[in-house]
Amino acid sequence: MRITPYLNYFSEELKKLKRLNLERRLRLIESAQNPEIILDGRKVIILCSNNYLGLANSRYLKKAAIDAIKTFGIGSCASRLISGNMTLHEELEERVANFKRKQCTLIFNSGYHANTGIIPAIANEGDLILSDELNHASIIDGCRLSRAETIVYPHKDVNFIENILKKSRHKKRLLVTDGIFSMDGDIAPLSEIVQLKNKYDFLLIVDEAHATGVIGKDGRGVVDYLNLNDSVDIIMGTFGKALGSYGAYVATNRVIKKYLINKARSLIFSTSLPPSLCASAIKAIEIVEKNPGLIKKLHKNVALIKNNLRSLFPRIPDNEVPIIPLIIGEEEKTMKICERLLKNGLFIQGLRPPSVPQGTSRLRLTVMATHTEGQLKMVTSVIEKIFETYIS
Ligand code: PMP
Repeated sequence: MRITPYLNYFSEELKKLKRLNLERRLRLIESAQNPEIILDGRKVIILCSNNYLGLANSRYLKKAAIDAIKTFGIGSCASRLISGNMTLHEELEERVANFKRKQCTLIFNSGYHANTGIIPAIANEGDLILSDELNHASIIDGCRLSRAETIVYPHKDVNFIENILKKSRHKKRLLVTDGIFSMDGDIAPLSEIVQLKNKYDFLLIVDEAHATGVIGKDGRGVVDYLNLNDSVDIIMGTFGKALGSYGAYVATNRVIKKYLINKARSLIFSTSLPPSLCASAIKAIEIVEKNPGLIKKLHKNVALIKNNLRSLFPRIPDNEVPIIPLIIGEEEKTMKICERLLKNGLFIQGLRPPSVPQGTSRLRLTVMATHTEGQLKMVTSVIEKIFETYIS
């Protein structure tokens, strides 16, 4: 087999990425996911994890996972439709349905599996998908797999959506949006979208990956917070962010659940979530339900850091979302600031295209409930010091 020409091609592509300041590399974390981590051999405060409630290293979640391993072993070793459907999958589904106040839920292996499974299961050739331009990559890929006509609408533009719906003669219509936008930390106009749904009739999917365990005083997400549970057909969310575990769920009604079990290829053709992760997700939901103080602490930390940073970044959204985009623009400058922050003990990963649109490279700062007030004060002063030299 001759592979040299391919290797040359890959090397050229990598050189091109480097020239454009778009080359990515892996950083290494050598500790548990606490507010302070060991990164590439150095102790730093982490401010770019989705571990919003600090549950990823919770002793309760760890014990739940270890107990599940003792009883059920490590792997499920088949998809749920063959021989991989275990007690803990169904227990988790019941707990999430209760938490999300929906009729039922279906567990997927990850948010990426969920979005690339449910969207093509629901929309096909001849159908229309309306998708926000800032939706997560897993939604974009789900739309591509579907072969439906996909119209990407300008961010949160409900007038644009209405104009399309007025003209659409498609067999089925689906609107899919992030509830909380993962790179900008703003909230989708769900009430307006539901008003359009009542007028024009389409299926609605809301991705609550960053809203679950975060939004509302009980962390049930943005759909529940806005009292729209009955109007949203499918709520998708993940266990790998605020809930500190791994995997995802789709909360819906019994008919759609049964349909997805029969049609969602990422569920049908992939080994199911290991039982230990189901057990830790169950424990995380229990903790969120029994300890409202945890979410309160997250919201307090969010308010504190946003207030501190608003004079430098006036466009920081005024909401409970722990995602704070510090927009720089140019790729090279973004990564230079990222490295300077690291030297000063802060890890805020720089994000560049294709994760964010061209010209909006940024540091995506995320806050955790477990950051201390002292840490957040230190974070503010380091950011102020470093950004003053770069921004002025
Ligand atoms: N949707 C959104 C909005 C996300 O931010 C992410 C993860 N970054 C996903 C889906 C994918 O979830 P997972 O990491 O569980 O695959």
